[in-house]
Amino acid sequence: MDVPALRRRLLAWYRANARDLPWRGRDVYGVWVSEVMLQQTRVDVATPHYLRWMARFPTVQALAAASEEEVLRNWAGLGYYSRARNLHAAAKMVARDGWPATLAGWRALPGVGAYTAAAAASIAQGQPHACVDGNVVRVVARLAGDGGDVGKAATRTRIAARAQAWLAPRSPGDWNQAMMDLGATVCTPRAPRCDACPVATLCAARAAGTQGRLPRKARAKPPVAEERAVAVVRHRGKVLLVRGPRGLLAGMWSLPGGPLDGTSLAAIVQHQTGVRVRTSGETATAVHHFSHRTWRMTVQAARVVPGRTGTPAPPTHEARWVADTDLAAEAIPTATRVALAALATKPKTARPSPKP
Ligand code: SF4
Repeated sequence: MDVPALRRRLLAWYRANARDLPWRGRDVYGVWVSEVMLQQTRVDVATPHYLRWMARFPTVQALAAASEEEVLRNWAGLGYYSRARNLHAAAKMVARDGWPATLAGWRALPGVGAYTAAAAASIAQGQPHACVDGNVVRVVARLAGDGGDVGKAATRTRIAARAQAWLAPRSPGDWNQAMMDLGATVCTPRAPRCDACPVATLCAARAAGTQGRLPRKARAKPPVAEERAVAVVRHRGKVLLVRGPRGLLAGMWSLPGGPLDGTSLAAIVQHQTGVRVRTSGETATAVHHFSHRTWRMTVQAARVVPGRTGTPAPPTHEARWVADTDLAAEAIPTATRVALAALATKPKTARPSPKP
């Protein structure tokens, strides 16, 4: 690879064709927030959320001073709520200690992995660290003609080393953003636009005609399916939500329920919330996909058993009643919204009531 030519051409292309994104040119806080949002969210989805977030929390101090409830509410719609909780915790550390000055300092913040650390350090602080995500892996694998399985650690390590060796040391932020833009707009996963590529004559995959087959990835494991039951307990215009310490929805207000393991749903609800309920027989099914797991949910309507109090909920769980009319504004996870919608839109044909 003619690295000087690669740097020269790609940087010139970037400076003429950079995407107009709202976080470009922002301070370190703005860059960091954008990188966290973009970890699992596409640019077009993240953009309106980013603009609202920056209007509500314009500085790291404003974010640090906000309540977790408010942070999660403003994150609603982006999913993967652990990102918001980590962002909040990290903002408190930065507000107290100042911005990290090294890559290791960035990595020490909650929720900051190798990519986010390199992006923040290079784009906002001019430090010479290459960002390596799926887009960059694809571009580097094609440019280098690397046919290794990118699902294997050895291949990823080799590609990351190459990305670092190619980094333009005097313009690391522009370089990283140029690689991101090339991967997003030209060297796309399917049908790369090699005719429009500024570095086409340097590309090994294009020379070999293998650009459509790289990067190579062995078939991924299918997501694990999990059968669960959740209860929509209604009482006087309110819905019962619970917040527990473990699982994919840890710390989120969601419907009580759990895996189908032979325990009745009523017993699970009572254990989690302390409220005695009886399922009504009205059921629906809902499916929600996480990155490595799929929940197939049986959603059951339930009512409070009148005149009987339940046993106290375990101290690890919190429960609260939320008015139907307030649910839309609550920071509840998508899996819960999917379950609520499934029951709400289901035709009302009740089945015989199972035992509570
Ligand atoms: Fe990607 Fe084609 Fe450019 Fe190579 S020539 S980097 S495959 S767009």
